[in-house]
Amino acid sequence: QCAGVCPTGAITVRDDTARAWKALQDPQTRVVAQIAPAVRVAIGEEFGMEPGEVTLGKLVAAMRMLGFDEVYDTGLGADLTVTEEGNELLDRLQNGGRFPMFTSCCPGWVTYARNRHPELAENISTCRSPMGMFGAVLRDYFSGKDTAEGKKTFSVAVMPCTGKKLEAGWDEMVTEIGKDIDVVLTTQEIAQMIREGGIDFAALESEGPDMPFGLTSGAGVIFGVTGGVTEAVLRNLAADSGHDTLQQVAFTGVRGMEGVKEASAAVDGRELRVAVVHGLRNAEQLIQDMQAGRRQYDFVEVMACPGGCIGGGGQPGPQAAETRAARAKGLYQADSETQIRRSQENPVLSKVYGDVLGENHHRLHRGRH
Ligand code: SF4
Repeated sequence: QCAGVCPTGAITVRDDTARAWKALQDPQTRVVAQIAPAVRVAIGEEFGMEPGEVTLGKLVAAMRMLGFDEVYDTGLGADLTVTEEGNELLDRLQNGGRFPMFTSCCPGWVTYARNRHPELAENISTCRSPMGMFGAVLRDYFSGKDTAEGKKTFSVAVMPCTGKKLEAGWDEMVTEIGKDIDVVLTTQEIAQMIREGGIDFAALESEGPDMPFGLTSGAGVIFGVTGGVTEAVLRNLAADSGHDTLQQVAFTGVRGMEGVKEASAAVDGRELRVAVVHGLRNAEQLIQDMQAGRRQYDFVEVMACPGGCIGGGGQPGPQAAETRAARAKGLYQADSETQIRRSQENPVLSKVYGDVLGENHHRLHRGRH
């Protein structure tokens, strides 16, 4: 099997796979990777499996065979985002701030808003995306080890999204020690590398992501589907973590494939008005309605792709509505099977905040590095 080389020599298929292969072939380079939630319910389709089948364990195994040194789950980054975004929302509620607060994890939406609605700049959360937060954590964690071991760390993000390639190059993702993410590979690109490596993906035994960042909550996993960010944040802000409470959050109206969904939830002694939108045309209509006074919200989630990241531009195609529905079902199933359902209950977070970030907590936010 492949041991970190490209046996077919087909490294020019895409520039980004070529860069990943090059890093994998360099013994002085530590190649670390994070895998976004939506990838796990779609990559199996590239190897004859059904949409929605959760194949994170096979993907981890395949990436180790390709030569990746550390493989993590971006769900941990999502748990960080949930925590930070929930705190930001509470802070705005308690101390004043722009409303509605818009989510910030989708580069398609953030780019659209920057270009078309600069008046909303302060409405958009200051939080980096899960990829961006995890990228900062990995860079900070490995920079000391790199110096001690005479190595360099090359950080790869496996994403359902072509827009994430642009996000990785945004000013806020580049610090004096370099880029937080070196390369973004789409689901299709990592599948291509697995094929080039001659790996029989469907036959692989599942393996777990690496520690110390390998644990994620169910809330982090549902980030990959429209409504998932909102449900994860509401779970975190809910008064308790009992099964009934989490069920109530799930049925506030945040789930489902309607273009615009509305919900309300009690947060900090008041009723929070929430909207969940996917597709930029729906977002534009919602903004026009808000600006004309026809709708009012406190929190708005926007994802650019149909169904959210499960329908991202880097996912296997063609993407029928039934395919997206099956992928969404796979993510909700994975969530329901996790023992940790709320982000703040992920025990790895205390290590991240205490041991890795310390005083550099600002690295989780835009424009504050
Ligand atoms: Fe990328 Fe689409 Fe997900 Fe936005 S919704 S982060 S553009 S895959």
